Amino acid sequence: MAKNYLQKIFSTQSTPQNEPIPGTNQVKNSAGGYVWQIDPWDHLRRFLILGSEGGSYYAKERELTLENATNVARCIESNGLRVVSEVVGISQAGRAPKNDPAIFVLAMCAAFGDNATRQVALAALPQVCRIGTHLFTFAELVQGMRGWGRGLRRAIGQWYTATDAGKLAYQVIKYRQRNGWTHTDTLRLAHPKPQNDDQKAIFNWITKRDQAEWAHADSKPESAALATIWAFERVQRETDIDQVLKLITDYDLPREALPTEWLNQVRVWDALLPHMPMTAMIRNLATMSRVGLLRPGSEAEQLVIERLRDRERLAQARIHPIAVLSAMRVYKLGYSLRGQATSHAEREKQPGWKPSARVLDALDDAFELAFKTVQPANKRMLLALDVSGSMGAGMIAGVPGLTPRDGSAAMALVTMRTEPNYHIVAFQQEIMPLKISAKQRLDNVIQDIRGLPFGGTDCAKPMLYALENRIPVDTFVIYTDSETWYGNIHPFQALKQYRQQMDIPARLVVVGMIANQFTIANPNDKGMLDVVGFDTAAPDLISAFARDEV
Ligand code: CA
Repeated sequence: MAKNYLQKIFSTQSTPQNEPIPGTNQVKNSAGGYVWQIDPWDHLRRFLILGSEGGSYYAKERELTLENATNVARCIESNGLRVVSEVVGISQAGRAPKNDPAIFVLAMCAAFGDNATRQVALAALPQVCRIGTHLFTFAELVQGMRGWGRGLRRAIGQWYTATDAGKLAYQVIKYRQRNGWTHTDTLRLAHPKPQNDDQKAIFNWITKRDQAEWAHADSKPESAALATIWAFERVQRETDIDQVLKLITDYDLPREALPTEWLNQVRVWDALLPHMPMTAMIRNLATMSRVGLLRPGSEAEQLVIERLRDRERLAQARIHPIAVLSAMRVYKLGYSLRGQATSHAEREKQPGWKPSARVLDALDDAFELAFKTVQPANKRMLLALDVSGSMGAGMIAGVPGLTPRDGSAAMALVTMRTEPNYHIVAFQQEIMPLKISAKQRLDNVIQDIRGLPFGGTDCAKPMLYALENRIPVDTFVIYTDSETWYGNIHPFQALKQYRQQMDIPARLVVVGMIANQFTIANPNDKGMLDVVGFDTAAPDLISAFARDEV
C-alpha cells in the first residue's frame, strides 16, 4: 500500500536517521544522524572505563577528553559524592583497562567538588592510587587543577604513613618515577610525620639517599622493610651474577629494582619468575621468551600457563582482559616491537621466539577468566557488531592497533562462549554474516573481523535483518559507537516493528565502544540498556538484563 505523502514526511514509525524522530529529544551525532544523548552517569562510566586516549574517528584525543571532562564537571556539580563512589567502585573492582581516567576524575573531585566532595575524594586516594605510579599521576594531574593546600598535602602524606613499612619499601624500589615525578618530590611536598622508626628511615632514604648509612652498609639491617631497600642498593653495585640472583631470591626484588644490564640474562628472569606479580608476568611474556626462559616444555612455561588459568590470581591482581589481549598480540608476533626495525623484514631478523600455542591458549582462557563470572541468560540472542568505518579508527585503552572494531569482536566472544543460543552478524550499511564461532581463539576471531569491508553505518540493520528472516530474538546486543546515520528508519523504530510483527518483547543492549555522549537506546524504553564495552562487568550485565534482572 502506497504511503500518504503526509505520512511519508511525518511518521513516528519510520524516520530517516538524518532526521530526529518527531516528538523526541534526540540529538545530532558526529555523523549527522540523530540518536539520544546518553545519561550523564552512563557517560561518566564510559569515560572511566574506555578513557579518551587516542581519540576516536570523529574526535581528536583533546576534544574527546574535554567533552568528557565537561561531563565529569557536570556530574560533580550535581552529586560529587556519587562521582567519588563511582570512581572508587570501578577502580577497586578493576573494571577498567586503565586506572588513569579514575585518577583524573578523582583529581577533578578533589579540585572542583564542594567541601564534602573534596574531603571524601582525598580520603579515597589510597583506594584509587594503589601504587606509586598512580600517586605520581594523581600529583601531576591535581597540580594542574588546584593549589597544594593543606588538605591535599595531608592526603599525600597519609598515602605514605598509612602504608605498612614492608609494603612501602617495596613500592619505593619498584615504582621510582613517572613523568618526572619521584617519591622525593611528593614526600617533600607533603612532609608527613613518620609513624614509626622504619618509616622514618625510609623517608630519610627517599629524601637524602646518600646519607642513609644503613642502606649502604656491608651487613643488612635487622628490619625486614629496611633490608629490602638495603638489597636494592646492594644490587645496584653488584657485579657477580650469582650474588644478584641470591639478592633477587632472598629479597623478592622486582624487575624494576635491577640495573637494566641484567635483564638480558635468562638466569635473572628465572630468579624473578617465581615471585613475579601477575601484571609483570603477563607484560613480559615476550621478553621472557626472547631471553630463552619461556621455551616449549620448560618448567617456566608450565608455571606461566598455570598462573594464567588461575581465576583467583587474575582477580587479585586486577588483571583486565585488555591487558591479556594486548600481551597476546605482542607475544604472538614472535619478535620484539622495540628497537630500530621499521619494516616487517627487518623485524624478522631481530632476536625472536616461536610463540607457543599452549601459552596462546592459556592467554585465551585468561582473557575470559578476567571478566566477572557470567551466568548464562539462556535467551535467544542476536549479537551484532558495527564494523563501519568509524569503528576501525582510534584505539581501545591506548593499545596501539586495537580498534573499537577489534574490541567489539572480543567482547562478543565472551557472550558467545556463555550463551547456548546466540546468532552473530556484523553490519555497516549492510548485514554481513560472520563465520566466527565460540570455539575459536580470540586472536583468530579478531583476525576474521579485520577482513570485513567498511561502509556507512546503519544500526537499525540487525532488527530489520531479524524481522526479514523471521529470526526469533529475545535480546539484541549491538556493539557500536552509536554514530548511525545511513538508514531510513531509526534503530528504536526498527525494534518496535520487530516487537510488534514478531510478537516478542525483544530487548536491546547497546555496548558503547567509545566514550562519546551518544546512544541508540531510547532512555524512556525500559527494554533498552546501555553498557560499556570492556567493562569487565559488561557480559554479566548483558546477561542479567536479558534475564530481566536489571
Ligand atoms: Ca560508523
